[in-house]
Amino acid sequence: MSEGLSATGFEALLGEKSFLLADGATGTNLFAIGLESGEAPETWLLEHPDRVQALHQSFVEAGSDLFLTNTFGGTQHRLQLHGLDDQVGSLNRRAAQLAREVADKSGRRVLVAGSVGPTGEILAPLGKLERADAVASFAEQIEGLVEGGIDLVWIETISAPDELEAAVEAARGFDVPVCATMSFDSAGRTMMGLTPRAFAGLAADFGIDGFGANCGVGASDLMSSVLGFMDARPNRPVIAKANCGIPSYEDGQIVYSGTVEQMSAYALLARAAGARIIGGCCGTKPEHIAAMRQALDANDNPDFRVLAIEMALGQMSEGARRIAAGQDELQASFRRGGGGRRRRG
Ligand SMILES: [Zn+2]
Repeated sequence: MSEGLSATGFEALLGEKSFLLADGATGTNLFAIGLESGEAPETWLLEHPDRVQALHQSFVEAGSDLFLTNTFGGTQHRLQLHGLDDQVGSLNRRAAQLAREVADKSGRRVLVAGSVGPTGEILAPLGKLERADAVASFAEQIEGLVEGGIDLVWIETISAPDELEAAVEAARGFDVPVCATMSFDSAGRTMMGLTPRAFAGLAADFGIDGFGANCGVGASDLMSSVLGFMDARPNRPVIAKANCGIPSYEDGQIVYSGTVEQMSAYALLARAAGARIIGGCCGTKPEHIAAMRQALDANDNPDFRVLAIEMALGQMSEGARRIAAGQDELQASFRRGGGGRRRRG
């Protein structure tokens, strides 16, 4: 956990709640309301701050406990593609301020997570980006986010361990918690070959406050990553942020196959598997998050196996559910070595 004398907002909210619901997509939802293909989502921080805030607001109203700033491409390396690399500090500060305003008027505790995406470059010696330059680039972005008032840094969609390490090192220069998610989009591994289990080890080595998977393929593949994380018995919160199904091109637009029912099922499975922070990535709209909120609040979080059986075959009787989940007292005492039998006789 992060240093400092008092618990951060992130630690406090995780301590209060058994799970946190995150938000859905930023990019795909901004494209749906008029952002042009090829346009950087960050340009809307200046041109349409009201629309950026409206998207944040819609996730807060859907029940998100945490949402991401519109700064996925907010490093100088990404912004220079759009001629905005001289505004890294001000754009990131602005994004955090806009998000902060929405969170603070929600009437409950909602966390603002400062989104930090990949630079788009490959680090040396494989690529051209020197490690020190990567750290400096991330630090420049994170400084703006921190000045704007984020609660935590949220490094996402990373596929290379060395780039992740550079981003974490940059974030460590500021007194905020750091979460990081990688994208496992190549047959269950990241593009650079890392497995979920290996990432669980890195997350511990790097001292990341929460770690997990985002984007990638569909929600099914993302569950494979969550199971891999849990196999490593992590001692820090696991994050699941799946795409809303699989993308396809329809009439020149990218459409995601996920339904509200599928995303609700995914949310329940992710929580039962052990994820503490659950949300959606590309294609996930506020209506999906609202359905996930409802499903998570309505379900009493059964055992993963019980949940899987009930989803496929329908509800178990209460007694059968308790026994299947290993919660039956008599059953438990027999397992301990005949204590239950003696008590009865
Ligand atoms: Zn995504």
